[in-house]
Amino acid sequence: MQDTELYARLLNLGRGWRVREVRLDMSKDRVDVWVESTDDGTWLCAECKTAVALYDHTGEQLWRHLDTCQCRTYVHARLPRTACKEHGVRQVAAPWAGPRSGFTLLMESRLIDTLKECDVTGCSRLMRVSWDEGWGIVERAVRRGRERKPHRIPAYLGIDEKSFAKRHNYETLVCDLQRGTVEHVVDDRRQESLEAYYGQFSAEELAGVKAAAMDMWDPYIAATHAYVPQAKEKIVFDRYHVTRLVSEAVDKIRRQEHKMLAAQGDDRLKGTKFLWLANEENIPECRQVEFDAIRKANLRTGRAWAIKEALREFWNYTYRRCAEKFFLRWYFWATHSRLGPIIKAAKTLKAHLANILTYFKHRICNATAEGLNSKIQMVKEMACGFRNREHYKLAIYFHCGGLDLYPATVAS
Ligand SMILES: [Zn+2]
Repeated sequence: MQDTELYARLLNLGRGWRVREVRLDMSKDRVDVWVESTDDGTWLCAECKTAVALYDHTGEQLWRHLDTCQCRTYVHARLPRTACKEHGVRQVAAPWAGPRSGFTLLMESRLIDTLKECDVTGCSRLMRVSWDEGWGIVERAVRRGRERKPHRIPAYLGIDEKSFAKRHNYETLVCDLQRGTVEHVVDDRRQESLEAYYGQFSAEELAGVKAAAMDMWDPYIAATHAYVPQAKEKIVFDRYHVTRLVSEAVDKIRRQEHKMLAAQGDDRLKGTKFLWLANEENIPECRQVEFDAIRKANLRTGRAWAIKEALREFWNYTYRRCAEKFFLRWYFWATHSRLGPIIKAAKTLKAHLANILTYFKHRICNATAEGLNSKIQMVKEMACGFRNREHYKLAIYFHCGGLDLYPATVAS
C-alpha cells in the first residue's frame, strides 16, 4: 500500500478527496499529509445542501491529527468553496475536522478523552499541545454539549453552594440527583442566582419537580417558593447540612471550653477537634482510650457531643411521625442542656422542621447522587490553579455536566 493510500484510509476520506503527498521528517519527528479535493467531487452548499458548482479554493489550512507513532502529524488542505445562488460563497466542510477547529475530529476526541482523565496541564504535556489549545478543546466541548442538551428540568433537584478559590466567592450548583449531573452553575448564592435557573422553565415544567434538596438558606428557599408549585412539600433540607449545624455547635463549645481549661493549665482538649466531629465508630483505635477518658470527664464538650451523636438516630426512622416524635424529644434535651450553641442550633432546626421531615417522604439529600460530590471536589482541586471563575464553571460542566462532549462526524 502506498503512503498516500494509507493516509487516505486512516483519515477516512470519502468520495471527492484524496491524499496528494505524505512527507516524513525524522529530524523533527513530524509527518505532513496534503489532502486535496478531486475534480469529480460534487459540492453541496454548506447552508442548503443543494449541489452547486465549485467557486474556488481557500488558502492552505492546517489541522493537527493523531500522532503517527512518535511523529506529530499534520493535515494540510485547501478547502473548496461553492457559490450558491441563494447563499453566496461558502466553504465546504472538511470531513476530517469540525468547523473552525485546528484539530482533526479524531484528535479532538482523543484530547477530550485525555482531558477527562487529567487537568489541562497534564493533557498538554501528554498530548504535546499548548495549554491554550487544551483549554480551547474544553470550551468547545462544553459549548457543543450544552447546545445539544435537551431542555428539561430534573424531577429531583439538588441545590448546593460551593466556595471558589478559598475566598468568599460562591457558585450555586443545581444538580440532577437521579442522573448525578450538574445541570447549572451560576455565580453567587442569592435568590436571583437560583431564579436565573428556574426562570428558563415554564410553569408546567416547574410543576414536574418532585423534590429539591437544599441547605437551610433563605435565598434558595425563597426562590423555590417563588417558582416551584407546592414548594412547601417539595423542599427537603439537606441531611448533611442539618448534621453540620450541630457539629459546628459542638466545635464552638470545644473551643470555648479549651480556652477556659488551658487558662488553668489543663490541656485535655488540645488536638481533639476531629475526635468530637467524627462519628463515634470512626474514632481511630489508637485514640479510643484517650477519647473515652475525656468523654466521661463531664465536660461541656462531652455533653454537646452526646447530643450531636443522638441526633444521628433521627435519620434511621421509616415513618415521618415517628421521626418527628424523636426529634421533639431530642429538642427538649438539647434546649435544656444549658449549652448555648447547641440550644441555638436546635432552635434553627425546629424552625425548619417541616422541611427536614420531608426527607421521610422523598429520601433525597445532596449526596443522593453518588460520586457527584467527589467529582465536584476533584474539579475544585484541579481548579486550584484557576484564578478565573469562568474556568472553574466550565470545568464543572465538562467533568460533571453529563454532556455529550464529542464532535459529531461531518456527513460527507
Ligand atoms: Zn445554498
